[in-house]
Amino acid sequence: MEVRRRIEVSGIVQGVGFRPYIYRLATSRQLKGTIRNTAAGVTIEIQGPAKTVQDFIERLPAEAPPLARITSVTVQALPCADLESSGADAGFRIVHSREGEEVRTLISPDVAICADCLREMFDPNDRRHFYPFINCTNCGPRFTIIRDIPYDRPSTSMAKFPMCPACLAEYDNPLDRRFHAQPNACWDCGPQVKFWGTAGQTIGCDDPIVEAAQALRAGSVVAVKGLGGFHLAVDATNPAAVALLRQRKRRVEKPFAVMVPDLQAAEAICELDDAARAALQSIQRPIVLLPKKPGHIVPDEVAPFNRYLGVFLPYTPLHYLLLAAGKFQALVMTSGNLSEEPIAIDNREAVTRLRSLADSFLVHNRDILLRCDDSVVRVTGGVTRQLRRSRGFVPVPVFLKEEIPSVLAVGGELKNTICLTKGKHAFLSQHVGDLENVESYNFFHEAIEHLQRILEIRPEIVAYDLHPDYFSTRWALEQTGAKLVGVQHHHAHIASCMAENHLEGRVIGFALDGTGYGTDGKIWGGEGLIAGYEGFERAAHFEYVPLPGGAAAIREPWRMAVSYLAHHFGRDFLELEFMKLDIPFARELNRSKVEFLLQMMEKGVNSPLTSSCGRLFDAVAALAGIRQLVNYEAQAAIELEMAMTTKGAEEDGAYPIKLLPDTASGNDRWIISTRPLFEALLDDLGHAAPVATISRRFHNGLVECFVEVASLLRKKTALCRVCLSGGTFHNVYLSQRLEARLTEAGFDVFTQKEVPAGDGGLSLGQALVGAASR
Ligand SMILES: [Zn+2]
Ligand SMILES: [Zn+2]
Ligand SMILES: [Zn+2]
Repeated sequence: MEVRRRIEVSGIVQGVGFRPYIYRLATSRQLKGTIRNTAAGVTIEIQGPAKTVQDFIERLPAEAPPLARITSVTVQALPCADLESSGADAGFRIVHSREGEEVRTLISPDVAICADCLREMFDPNDRRHFYPFINCTNCGPRFTIIRDIPYDRPSTSMAKFPMCPACLAEYDNPLDRRFHAQPNACWDCGPQVKFWGTAGQTIGCDDPIVEAAQALRAGSVVAVKGLGGFHLAVDATNPAAVALLRQRKRRVEKPFAVMVPDLQAAEAICELDDAARAALQSIQRPIVLLPKKPGHIVPDEVAPFNRYLGVFLPYTPLHYLLLAAGKFQALVMTSGNLSEEPIAIDNREAVTRLRSLADSFLVHNRDILLRCDDSVVRVTGGVTRQLRRSRGFVPVPVFLKEEIPSVLAVGGELKNTICLTKGKHAFLSQHVGDLENVESYNFFHEAIEHLQRILEIRPEIVAYDLHPDYFSTRWALEQTGAKLVGVQHHHAHIASCMAENHLEGRVIGFALDGTGYGTDGKIWGGEGLIAGYEGFERAAHFEYVPLPGGAAAIREPWRMAVSYLAHHFGRDFLELEFMKLDIPFARELNRSKVEFLLQMMEKGVNSPLTSSCGRLFDAVAALAGIRQLVNYEAQAAIELEMAMTTKGAEEDGAYPIKLLPDTASGNDRWIISTRPLFEALLDDLGHAAPVATISRRFHNGLVECFVEVASLLRKKTALCRVCLSGGTFHNVYLSQRLEARLTEAGFDVFTQKEVPAGDGGLSLGQALVGAASR
């Protein structure tokens, strides 16, 4: 018996080889019908024997092309068409959409070169042998070359390269892997590579890639144009080259990531498990933070004082050719910028901005229209978590549980991302960076405009952080024509965690981070909330201490140690026994600076109050002798965590932390007092306890304290779901142990995976809170 079915498929199904896939699936079964692109995705009409049609429908999602992401398939029965008498018996056809009807659907992110293209590129008999821009429907650039929609060659930076007859034939053939591959190109018709000096002059040579590889071998810094921007590259196994890059980039100790040629090379440097291998080889090719192996070939200078190393595999054909040309085992590949500026993308811009950093430039003439940094993930307990969600993931949306109004959420100040919502989709932008810097702020504007344009979203609501001095907040407050909604920073963190876990109603939320503006004008960061999208109640927080010198206290952890000591023990802390010990904190403390700080705090000058968890880590790290000054954000906290997991630290004690009812404010709220913690810590210092022990007891103390807070809040509210968010949860030990202990105590624990727990995920939470305000 013949049947006819209409199948609507939505998700990422355009520009990913979906129509040729369906064409092959249908023709191989002698099914008849059509496929066309529609606003929602694709519509297939299929006719044939009932059993074959059923088989077709079942296989359709299972064997879809690698870049497709199907979000729904609906099937509807139609009356059979009399194909023979209508003369429509033309087998299966791809029907081209009418003008204006094309592509209103999800756009694919940039994807690493596929195995087929890689094989062709290294095949001396292939017409694209060694061609650095080889790609097909299953791989290559997308998001970073799109100027506008629909996603067609004229709307991309490939517009200026007319296809040669051979490329065009592939492009037009539904059975070819390059059918409608918009960036399709070859040696004859596509982009080319050049090797430039620091003045932007072309350096004549046979092969620019070989030339660049030789420069790297000789220890120089080469700026390499990639997919979402320039990298600065040096040979990672050459300590002098790494030191040179650090010095030029003014990056003292912040770890660099390394690109390695293949999985074996990664395995030689780091400990891998199956989940890590999968993350490294995924089509997104993020930087994966992995535990270093002892005695590996990458010198310590690449990631000093850190047991982890950021490793990634090549993702463009150019990367593969460069690594092969120099036979490199590891290249440092760091964003082409000076400290926290956005990554450079344009050739001339790169030469201007990077000439003091690089000795030469490996450039090409396929323009990058939108910058997009490398993504960074961590794999813990078999779960991949985003630390920086950018290239390869953007603009794939976070899928929401319910449809929500269109919101533009502008994120925070550091690690900024923005978020636009449409229906059940939340589109987070790529990593924008720290808005304090002018280039990043310009990029913030670009990101908003570009996302609005390619997604065709006009937001009804603009959501922003409550901090009056954030550039994103100031920008939001100037917008007209949309409802403006201010969202408290930690409320946004918890809402972000709820959104990606499809939670509704209210939850217990622990939002732990460095800095977020509170509704009382103080700096929050160690918060226990009862929260839903509609609002929150501050149910517990760390007791306030002064932040002496504001931003200076963030750069100088010793200041936080002094703040906590003075807060708990008065200025007499200087007379305490531990100050007479031969420990780094006591030895290095400058008494006149301390006196200055004490006076500043006593007079309340430039000493805002904070309940920050990050600053508590800083104070403990300083006292434990780990670090009195930091060179990058969260360095002291990271090194405190690293100190703990050194072998031999099997200490399972926990520093005591006390919960006090907040009688002063008249609120039903717990104040988390750290006094017993510091008493125990000073006692440990007096007994010359190892740093590893101090660190573990501190971490365990925090965990037990939050389990207790959660239990008290469950008693009060009957809520059992706990959400964990905020930058502090990038701490693996704290996250894993707290999750385990809460689970033991009968809670359902939810964490962030798809978006970062840090401020890179803030905009998602703002969007949901903004939507709920309507
Ligand atoms: Zn390919
Ligand atoms: Zn060609
Ligand atoms: Zn935060």
